[in-house]
Amino acid sequence: MKHQNILIVVMIAIIAVSAGAVLYDVHARNASAATSTSKKTTTASKTSTASQSKTDSSTQTKPAANQKTVVLDPGHSAVMPSGSEPVGPGASETKAKDMVGTKGVATGVTEYDFMLNLANKLKPELEKRGYKVVLTRTDSNSAHSCVERAQVANDNNADAFIRLHANAAESSTPTGAMTINITAHNPYTASTYSQCRKLSDCLIKAYCTATGAKSEGVVERDDLTGNNWAKVPTTLIEVGYMTNPTEDKLMQTDAYQAKMVQGIANGIDQFFAN
Ligand SMILES: [Zn+2]
Repeated sequence: MKHQNILIVVMIAIIAVSAGAVLYDVHARNASAATSTSKKTTTASKTSTASQSKTDSSTQTKPAANQKTVVLDPGHSAVMPSGSEPVGPGASETKAKDMVGTKGVATGVTEYDFMLNLANKLKPELEKRGYKVVLTRTDSNSAHSCVERAQVANDNNADAFIRLHANAAESSTPTGAMTINITAHNPYTASTYSQCRKLSDCLIKAYCTATGAKSEGVVERDDLTGNNWAKVPTTLIEVGYMTNPTEDKLMQTDAYQAKMVQGIANGIDQFFAN
């Protein structure tokens, strides 16, 4: 009996020590994550990161890194949702839930494939720079309305919502890039105007610097459902004209796409830098 009691005491001691080790390990991991790697975590939600840092504040010398969330919205899809939706919260005016988008006049590449490809290249670059990245769609076989796309940004409390599109014109002449922003008098989400405008400014400037694309500047309008439903800093970038054969072909080269990725990522960095 006595031996059994000793055994039980020893076992309890072992369990207590290993439990302590596990707790210690968790804190150690969090502490080191806070200083170097937590920005790279892609799975943890913003809320859990926040509550974790609150729990650990007593054991940390530094607060948890303030990881920013970037939601990327690759425009369009091969599958269209049917019907229409209000252009903004409470709006009586409606628009088609999504449109098929444009297509390269020389390459035949669809805008939806191109934008998904671009988002897939941007994601690892942004993660490398410390952002949490969420995509509104990860394939082209599902339908996504513009309201739903904005909802992804809202649900993730995005610090920046970047809508990726390529432009089309009646004529094959126009080239260059623009960002599309809400106006200061937007009836649905005007309170985000200054942050949206800052994001639009940073993005178009950095993008054109990195790619050498002609800048068409920031265009302000209030008829884009995805911009109007977003409650977070939002911009839509038209990366170039797929209706211009030269720009279309250029945009499908790996070398130019690498510049596009750098330009957009630099613009996001600059938005958060000051
Ligand atoms: Zn588009």
